[in-house]
Formats: sequence, structure tokens, C-alpha cells
Amino acid sequence: MDHQPTLPPHILLFPLPLQGHVNSMLKLAELLCLQDLHVTMLVSDYCHSRLLRHGNIQSGSLLHPAICFKTILDGLPEDHPRVGERVLEVMPPDVTGPLFRELMTSTDFLGSETRRPVTCIIADGILKFAGDFALEKGIPLIYFHTISASSYWASFCIFQLIEADEIPLKGNGMDSPVTSVPGMEGLLRRRDLPSFFRANDINDPHIQLTKTGIRKDLLAHAVIKNTFDDLEGPVLSQMRTHFPNIYSIGPLHAHRRTRLGAETMSTTSGSFWGDDRKCLTWLDSQPSKSVIYVSFGSITIMTREQHMEFWYGLVNSGQRFLWVIRPDFIAAGEDGESQIPGELEEATRERGYMVDWAPQEEVLAHPSIGGFLTHSGWNSTLESITAGVPMICWPYFADQMVNSRLVSEVWKLGLDMKDTCDRVMIEKMVRDVMEMRKELFQERANQMAKKAKRAVSEDGSSYCNLNRLIQDIKSMIV
Ligand code: UDP
Repeated sequence: MDHQPTLPPHILLFPLPLQGHVNSMLKLAELLCLQDLHVTMLVSDYCHSRLLRHGNIQSGSLLHPAICFKTILDGLPEDHPRVGERVLEVMPPDVTGPLFRELMTSTDFLGSETRRPVTCIIADGILKFAGDFALEKGIPLIYFHTISASSYWASFCIFQLIEADEIPLKGNGMDSPVTSVPGMEGLLRRRDLPSFFRANDINDPHIQLTKTGIRKDLLAHAVIKNTFDDLEGPVLSQMRTHFPNIYSIGPLHAHRRTRLGAETMSTTSGSFWGDDRKCLTWLDSQPSKSVIYVSFGSITIMTREQHMEFWYGLVNSGQRFLWVIRPDFIAAGEDGESQIPGELEEATRERGYMVDWAPQEEVLAHPSIGGFLTHSGWNSTLESITAGVPMICWPYFADQMVNSRLVSEVWKLGLDMKDTCDRVMIEKMVRDVMEMRKELFQERANQMAKKAKRAVSEDGSSYCNLNRLIQDIKSMIV
């Protein structure tokens, strides 16, 4: 079909269909549309139905009418849990890859009177089959890494890590320093590497997948990072020696607020669950910086035993808490009825509030929040940094192992309790962040929040990088 030569570029955004990945890509979609670009978001059917139910994407388009949604199967049966380590089964390349090819060559993507054919593919860095297709067809390809630059960089250095015998970890020497990630010497211990490196065997499928996949990123026209230069400058410099074209444009949620207006915070959603906004009213009635917000993101699961350790730790700390407990939060096979000790229920009634899902950006920005007990997902980490909220980190898996180390040892914005789950330790850390060293952590958090806001304000590093990215995308059609 012929299209008008004056039509704007048309970008296909293809996130891994998980909450954190979709959240950050949706924000990018809105930012691109503000510059008069056309965007198609390709999401799984499963994800699309959750977004329609809870995600504020009224009748198929988010805030901006230039965003259009298309769907593709995620290769899993409807009743697949899509949580915990089983999220790694989402979008198997041998199933979704051929479907993607079929879709991209269907009439939907050939262009119309109102839309060009796709002029640029921005694919999640994990979806290498989409990148392979773009390269084969000569469509400009940009990879979007939704994780921290540092965590990505640790994975990129997999060959050096293997060479130095620092992975696979084989469960040994977890506290030995990692020496073969340039720019991060002396910062990481082996336990702080991405969790997939904890394998016993070099032939482990995750190690093999990283080895074959990660260098493919070098074939892309550019890469986008949801981070900012003042946060991860040294690692971004290391990366730039391999990737000439890196666009660090984050934190994207804050960037969106700069360009759309602060009042739009509550209009963003993209949630897979329904926000319980009543918790904001509860927060209104709490003293300033007195509440610790507890949330482990959209994927983390835990055993009943771990759940009890957290609950006791929180209650014994004597602090107020707001806790997100998703309905699918307790690991499968542990579903049976369990007796909740009366003292926990009573203390929770007195100074706690529990919800299935919270409007997290708004919660973190609320004046009564003084700390965040988090699983160190990258979106949560960036949201906490921007809101100036100190953290206690209990990383669950993947990149979170690196992020939590950065929080405690590099930025010094909180504490890292990785690989432990003990009520006494939790109580101590909560008291430490909320009482004993409150001023110290708060002061640092305020300073980093200022830097984050500066990065996305006019003339800030991320603001300028986004402008460059848009020029780059526009120049692809001339
Ligand atoms: N989130 C939310 N409400 C909740 C819990 C999480 O809106 O109750 C959002 C949070 O703001 C973040 C995303 O879900 O943007 C989770 O992404 P993250 O990268 O932190 O972790 P993941 O869920 O991918 O492990």
C-alpha cells in the first residue's frame, strides 16, 4: 500500500511481556509520540488483556492516540504462572520467533495511508529473534535494555569472567571479589553477579544463552539504557568503548513527567493488576517519613517461611509499614491454609496496611514514606532513587543481585540483605534505615534524587540524549 511521503517514522516497540519491561517501554512509547512519531507496541495476548483490564490503555491507546497495540502469543498456556523463575519460559524463540516473522510480513505491517511500514525496530535486548529479523530485512535496529547498565555490563563481560574462572560459581567463594569486570573492580563479590552465573556447570543453558546472545547487541544500530550518566557514568564509559551509540535516557518514568507534566503521574499505569488507591488515603494519615513501603515487584515469589520471617521482622521493628502482597506471591505448592499468629495480625491492624497492588510511583513520592524494602528490580530502584527514598534490598534473581550491591556499596543509599532471610536481621535493618541512620541515608537519597531530576530536566543528560535519539530515528527515513 502506498503511503504519504510526509508521514512520520513508524517505530515498532517490542518488550518482553513482563510488567517491568512493559512499564518502561510504555513510557518510551509516550515520549516518542510526543515528538510526532508513530509507535506500535507489540505485546503478548496475555499482557494485552491485563493492560486492558487494569492498565489504563483506554480502548487500545494510552494517553497518546499515535500508540497502537498489536498482539502476539507468548508461547505459554493460559494457566502458566508467569512468576518466579518460570518467567524465563516466556516467549520461547522457537515458538514466538516464527510468529513474529509471520506478523511482520503480514498486511498489518506493510503500511497504509496513515502509517508507514515500520522504519525502526526497538526490541527488548532479550528478544534476539526480533533483532535477527530486523538485521536480515535491513530495518534499523535498536536494542532497549531495561536493566541497569552495570548489570548488563557484568553479563557482557561473561567471556572475561569465564576466562578468569570467576564463573560458573559452583556455589564456591561467594564472597571473593570479582576482578574481571572492567570499571567495577573491587565492587562486586561473586554473589553480586547476575544470579544466572550461579550455575555449577559452564554448559548451563543460561550461561550458554548469554554467551551466544550478548555480543549480538554489537550488531544493532544503537542501544537504549534506562539510566542516567550521573548514576552509572563509569560503567557507561566502559560500554561506550564497545558501543558507539548508547542513549542513556532514564529514569524514564521521571523523564515522562518532565515532558508531560507532573500531574500525569497518576495517569500512567500500564499495570497488570488493579491499583489499590485506598493505601494513599491511609498514607495521608501517617506522620512524615514514618512508613516503610514493602514490595517485591511483579515476579518475585517466596516460601511461607520467608513470608513469616519478613512479617515478624517488620512487626518487631515497631515501624509502620505498607506491604504489597500479590495474590500469586506465595510459591506454588505452599498454598495450604496457614495459621497467622495473633500477634502479627494485631500489630498489622495497628500500624500496617496490606494491598494486592499499589500505585507505586505515587506511593514512593508520598511524604509519609521513609524507606523501601525492595527486591531491587531496576524500575523499582529507579523509582526509589527519583523519589529520594532509602532502600533495604532483598534481591530475588537476575540483575537484581548487581543492583542491590550498587545501592549499598556504590551509591550508599541503603542496605543489602541478599542471600539472607532472617527476622532478626530484617528487624535490625529496618530500624537502621528508619531510625538509627535515617538522616544519613536520607541525605544521600536526597542528593541522588536531585541528580536524577537534573538528568531529565531541559538540558540534562537524559533529556539531550532523548532528543538525539529522536533525531537519529527521524534521519532513518530520509
Ligand atoms: N509496581 C507497581 N505496584 C506494585 C508493585 C510494583 O506499580 O504494587 C510496579 C513498579 O512501580 C515497577 C514495576 O511494577 O515499575 C516492577 O518492575 P521492577 O523492574 O521493579 O521489578 P519486576 O517486577 O520486573 O521484578
